[in-house]
Amino acid sequence: MCLSTLLRRTIVSTALTLSFAPTTARAAENPTPLILSVQDAPVPFTGSDGNTHLVYELWMLNFSSGDIAVQRLDILADDKVIQTLDATAIATRLQPVGLRDSTGTLAKSTQALLFLHITLPAGTAVPRHLTHRITTFIAAAPPAFQHLVLTGGEIAPDHQTVAVIHPPLAGNSYISADSCCDSTRHMRAALAVNNHVWLAQRYAVDWEQLDSHDRIYSGPREKLESYTIFGKPVLAVADATVVSVIDGLPEQTPGKYPEGISLDQADGNSIILRLDDPRLRGHVFALYAHMQPGSIRVHSGDKVHPGQVLGLVGNTGNSLAPHLHFQLMAEPSSLASNGLPYAIDSFEVTAQIPSTEVFDEAEANGTPIPHHTLPTTQHIEKALPLDQFIISFPDTQAPR
Ligand SMILES: [Zn+2]
Repeated sequence: MCLSTLLRRTIVSTALTLSFAPTTARAAENPTPLILSVQDAPVPFTGSDGNTHLVYELWMLNFSSGDIAVQRLDILADDKVIQTLDATAIATRLQPVGLRDSTGTLAKSTQALLFLHITLPAGTAVPRHLTHRITTFIAAAPPAFQHLVLTGGEIAPDHQTVAVIHPPLAGNSYISADSCCDSTRHMRAALAVNNHVWLAQRYAVDWEQLDSHDRIYSGPREKLESYTIFGKPVLAVADATVVSVIDGLPEQTPGKYPEGISLDQADGNSIILRLDDPRLRGHVFALYAHMQPGSIRVHSGDKVHPGQVLGLVGNTGNSLAPHLHFQLMAEPSSLASNGLPYAIDSFEVTAQIPSTEVFDEAEANGTPIPHHTLPTTQHIEKALPLDQFIISFPDTQAPR
């Protein structure tokens, strides 16, 4: 049965029902060729801009035989519109499954994730419920049904405790690369693993470091020792228990991604900690990836303390250049896990890098990275470092 026939029959059916004045009300039956649902409820957290952020993904399933152009999205919080995305914005955020490209039109019989980010000024109450009103255009449908407005994807924000952690590194001039909330490499890494879709890297940061001339490296690009961050101590972020360690994988040559890396080698030499804070109920884990071979000083089952040296920054696994990949997640798995936000207890923001493209260029060429120095250094407490800032951490490594 074609959609128009189905719709006409629905209307006729409703009319008949009304004419016979039934004693039992019939539930509404609205055709929804585009089915909406939320991947994981957003966990509200404070960013280094002082604002509250909600980050989540809206599934769209095109359950029809026609392409659906998504023209507008209104996000409603407790029945009021708090954010609108137009077709242009949607076209940069709608990612069909299995791809890393974005599109504004969801092809027939396909599924995609729309990556969403709500910013609430500091002090604003977090909405109790969110829902989504989508305006669509279906060219293949009969004229009367080409424009559809659909509502769905109702979700309540998840007010689980956000972990407050110590910094994973010590010292100055670190870059929070590919961090929250509108960058793409980590935030949009939706992976199908163990029969489920996960966004384990949702809040991951690739930490890089600048030298005194604002360069990520000086000297040959392919030499590990050229990189400012190479060999810097990696620190425990909390009282925690080591749940897994991978060591012994070789360093990769910087400047290009290695070929032939298997999924279980992608993290390189790496550590997963379970944070011991009882408020987290044993369900928050920290991943440190790409460390130097032979540098890891802890073993599975060890108890560690904040500031304790775990190993050294390297370039192992699926890594383009020496850096520390750090993330928090809800399972002891770097990929099959729900990525969680967190807050670093204390750090300073000194400058902002204009864009990921500017960062990539400086990383490719070893040139000083252009940045905007802030008028005054911002001392930040209990916040997640947002994307592309230059950050200093307290220069202490001893247990605190
Ligand atoms: Zn990373």
